[in-house]
Amino acid sequence: MKKIISSISSSLLIFIATFSFSNVAKSAEFFSIGTGGPTGVYFQVGNAICKMVAKIQSAEHGRKKGTDKAYRCSAPSTGGSTYNIGQIMEGELQFGVAQSDWQYHAYNGTKPDKVKPFNNLRAVFSAHPEPFQIIARKGSKIKNWDSLKGKKVNIGNPGSGQRGTFEVLMESHGVDTGFFGSTSELTSSEQSGALCDKKIDAFGYTVGVPNAGVAQSTDGCGAYIIDLQTDAVKKLVADNPFYAFATIPKGTYKTSKKDVTTFGVMASVVTSADVPDELVYAVVKAVFENLDDFRKQHPAFANLDPKKMIKDGLSAPLHPGAVKYYKEKGLM
Ligand code: GLU
Repeated sequence: MKKIISSISSSLLIFIATFSFSNVAKSAEFFSIGTGGPTGVYFQVGNAICKMVAKIQSAEHGRKKGTDKAYRCSAPSTGGSTYNIGQIMEGELQFGVAQSDWQYHAYNGTKPDKVKPFNNLRAVFSAHPEPFQIIARKGSKIKNWDSLKGKKVNIGNPGSGQRGTFEVLMESHGVDTGFFGSTSELTSSEQSGALCDKKIDAFGYTVGVPNAGVAQSTDGCGAYIIDLQTDAVKKLVADNPFYAFATIPKGTYKTSKKDVTTFGVMASVVTSADVPDELVYAVVKAVFENLDDFRKQHPAFANLDPKKMIKDGLSAPLHPGAVKYYKEKGLM
């Protein structure tokens, strides 16, 4: 008898498992959010969004079983901003995190050598501010832009936002890579280790504050962030709506003995006009309805303000699916 019951119950289990699996397979829609290096803040943004999507989906499915589409989200590590925009354009990614300068240039087609023109790019919301930082090795004697001359500098991997922004910075100072002793293209997860190992003297990184990757070299081997307030930087900020002066406050890292001033951008979440309104609406709803929880996912998100998130750092038009939600909630 026991045997019969156990064989009935195991067939039942197999039946339930098969049924629910095929049910999920039928109704689940998968989408991906491109982020940045695994030690960056974009990776945290993407994964926080996926977490909120999973949270709202399980709550809604508990209430009205099977009536809504089930979204399944992944947020893989990628090369960064311009890589993400390119992959959204190809339809390989549905969303991505991107610096506001590259969002602007992709939408307007103003730097085709650095990011492909993409008229169908759409903004979803902006997240945290990202100062462009030059982090110098302890003992490198680097104090400012001019003292980078002849040094070994990591200018970032192709596809990253910092790589493009570093190139803009060189152009605005009237120099090219020949200004430095040598340049490398290490990724954001490799650069701090290389700095501590004295393989490089400095690296450029556009990233939210605080960041574990930067801390690896500041707190780990005494590296420090330099001020960037040259005339060329002042002109960049004055001439471009997507740049602003930014401060890395004293005390952020072990070597932050005083406030450091540089220029920066906003991290923004972008998508394509081809992504369905329904999906963009679901993502925005998941984030905005769980904003308190979202803010707790990383210290860089602590000050997220919904009014600013739908305005600041957005130069591509908002996606209609996002607009629908913002209007419903009286944010627009
Ligand atoms: N701003 C960097 C980029 O666009 C990524 C920074 C991060 O991963 O947080 O590639």
